[in-house]
Amino acid sequence: MARAAVPGRLSWRVATVKETRDETATARTLLLDVPGWPGHLPGQHVAVKLTAPDGYAAQRDYSIAGAPEDGRLELTVQRQDDGEVSSYLAGVAEPGDQFEVRGPIGGWFAWPPADPRPLLLLAGGSGIVPLMSMIRTHAQANSQVPVRLIYSARTPADVIYATELAERERVSPLTVTHLYTRTAPVTAVIPPAPPAPRVFAGRLNAKVLAATAFPPSANPAIFVCGPSGFVETASALLVAAGHPPGTIKTERFGPT
Ligand SMILES: Cc1cc2nc3c(=O)[nH]c(=O)nc-3n(C[C@H](O)[C@H](O)[C@H](O)COP(=O)(O)OP(=O)(O)OC[C@H]3O[C@@H](n4cnc5c(N)ncnc54)[C@H](O)[C@@H]3O)c2cc1C
Repeated sequence: MARAAVPGRLSWRVATVKETRDETATARTLLLDVPGWPGHLPGQHVAVKLTAPDGYAAQRDYSIAGAPEDGRLELTVQRQDDGEVSSYLAGVAEPGDQFEVRGPIGGWFAWPPADPRPLLLLAGGSGIVPLMSMIRTHAQANSQVPVRLIYSARTPADVIYATELAERERVSPLTVTHLYTRTAPVTAVIPPAPPAPRVFAGRLNAKVLAATAFPPSANPAIFVCGPSGFVETASALLVAAGHPPGTIKTERFGPT
């Protein structure tokens, strides 16, 4: 992991797909073997380059889903309608396929496991991916820092890592709040205490944030990731709730 922090020239490396795992009907995890991979910090991403036989190449960024010590590079890709790169990675790629990756990239949107502050994570859609790397790293380090994840997805069927999150919530100081944006608005259901999942219908708002996030007085380290609209709304709500902007780190998965 320490090596990942050493700045240097990043080169393209060949990645071989070792395994794929469907997370939802439209999101797939790829486990990659990348000889010489220098390691990463939770939150960092890679650039993926696909090259066609005629030399045409397309490049996109993908967050790293795994914990640094997992040995293999793990990505989770949400298939976009007509998506040039995601439709291949999340639909076509199979074990043995090869493409190029470059990284790790992004030392700013990264969580150092030694950070003693409570960890507040806000994910919109596939924005869960780098935050899952943080949650897995937290578990691997046996950190007792409390973690709260607020995860907005369209429907329960769109929740990536649902089973793993439920299990991690049972065995570690993690509390997950689910928001479903495309289910009928109903009264919020908040079971009395963690680790039971907290579930809300609708988009993130000040009331949900106040009910589920750490208060500013707890001085949490905050990471927000997802589509631009989600990141903007979440950041504005956090600042309005009194969290200092300097404690909020954001990453946007906007359309290219
Ligand atoms: C730092 C970073 C990390 C990222 N990590 C991940 C990740 O871990 N998993 C993941 O699935 N994606 C991630 N993305 C998004 C990813 O880079 C691509 O933008 C996405 O996969 C779409 O690429 P595409 O070639 O399939 O679609 P394109 O061919 O570029 O676009 C096809 C259609 O999809 C729309 N579209 C493109 N991107 C998005 C998007 N993100 N959300 C909604 N609509 C979109 C476009 O407007 C267009 O209509 C990340 C982006 C960044 C900047």
